[in-house]
Amino acid sequence: MSFHLLNLTDPILRSLKKEGYTHPTPIQSQAIPVALKGTDVLGCAQTGTGKTAAFAIPILENLAKTNGNHRTKKIRSLIVTPTRELAIQIDESFKSYGRYTDLKSAVIFGGVGQNSQVKELKRGVDILTATPGRLLDLMNQGYISLSDIEIFVLDEADRMLDMGFIHDVKKLLAALPNNRQTLFFSATMPPDIVKLSKSILRNPVKVEVTPESSTVEAISQGIYYVDKGNKKNLLIDVLQDDGIKSALVFTRTKHGANKVVKLLNDRSINAEAIHGNKSQTARQRALSNFKKNTTRVLVATDIAARGIDVDELQYVINYEIPNIPETYVHRIGRTGRAGSDGTAISFCDAQEKSYWRDIEKLIGIKVPVIDEHDFPLVDHNPPEPEKQQNRSSSKGQKFQYAKKRNGQKSSNRSKSGSRKKRRPNYS
Ligand code: AMP
Repeated sequence: MSFHLLNLTDPILRSLKKEGYTHPTPIQSQAIPVALKGTDVLGCAQTGTGKTAAFAIPILENLAKTNGNHRTKKIRSLIVTPTRELAIQIDESFKSYGRYTDLKSAVIFGGVGQNSQVKELKRGVDILTATPGRLLDLMNQGYISLSDIEIFVLDEADRMLDMGFIHDVKKLLAALPNNRQTLFFSATMPPDIVKLSKSILRNPVKVEVTPESSTVEAISQGIYYVDKGNKKNLLIDVLQDDGIKSALVFTRTKHGANKVVKLLNDRSINAEAIHGNKSQTARQRALSNFKKNTTRVLVATDIAARGIDVDELQYVINYEIPNIPETYVHRIGRTGRAGSDGTAISFCDAQEKSYWRDIEKLIGIKVPVIDEHDFPLVDHNPPEPEKQQNRSSSKGQKFQYAKKRNGQKSSNRSKSGSRKKRRPNYS
């Protein structure tokens, strides 16, 4: 299907062409026609599926029809998203897709001074993207009124609840006009999200793509069993491979992220951290250096990494295994985006084995074990029978990665002892 079949107007089609988009992604071809009609949407899709354009394009189309009225200083569409990074990226998308319209978009988020945001609001904004805290703050100060909102988007609803924003969301909902269109997006649909969606949406059409657990199938995955104390040595060893041009390393804590950055910098591996203790400017700078390939390794905590959008991110390294299985899917979803290849490797110590078991259960894939490395787990906790089986099957292999594409399984094995060849082959 081409974008032309979606009945989009010329200014939007031109901007999509400029972005280099030729075909809508599945979430776009499903959601855009529904949203264009003014119907509420319940979207089950995670970042990386093209969901931003799935809501941004119909918003721009529908608002442009009645023309940009920012001169009247009414906010007509509001997008609420949990993190600052995501908010900035969404606003950038509106600016890109809406470049040939008269509509004006702006973004507000906490962690920085409010003055420039207030100034922009005063000049008039049609489409506002916001994180909940700053939005409520500026509403309370009288700088923002939601009474003219025609289209409301709740983005990453599951993350929003995980981050404890439920009360903020409820306050926002109370301030929104009843007569509005709502587009609700969530990567997962646990019962509390279903309940929330029911309380917000009116006769929604459900659109769903790549269920959470199947997104990972396009990504080459591998697991190293390693003692906790040896993770740092293993990381340095893995990063000796010059073939790894960019890697996003996940740690569970901010302190852990800082330690990994120091470790890498001490070994002359260019790395920066991105987490909640860094100022907004420092986070943006680190992200921009990473995108420009000035920084080879970005070390992130889960919340800070949420929504990081780096085209062609090659590697995700789980330095620590997340205790929430869905987090693994969110993490590795940073790579292998929009059809590009990606690799995700994980370092699992004895204490993390149960987390890893839950992850494999969720994704429904037995991730190949990379068992020939210099820092094998010397563990008093014997591996479970199925893991022993898995490990012995790959014995003698430096690497064994399974890749599943278009429903087909293929494995990619290297018998070479060369360290340089530790990376999976993308062919
Ligand atoms: P999102 O899920 O909105 O974070 O988008 C993920 C990535 O896909 C972003 O880098 C977008 O620029 C890109 N993207 C979105 N829609 C398309 C499309 N139709 N064709 C190609 N790339 C796209």
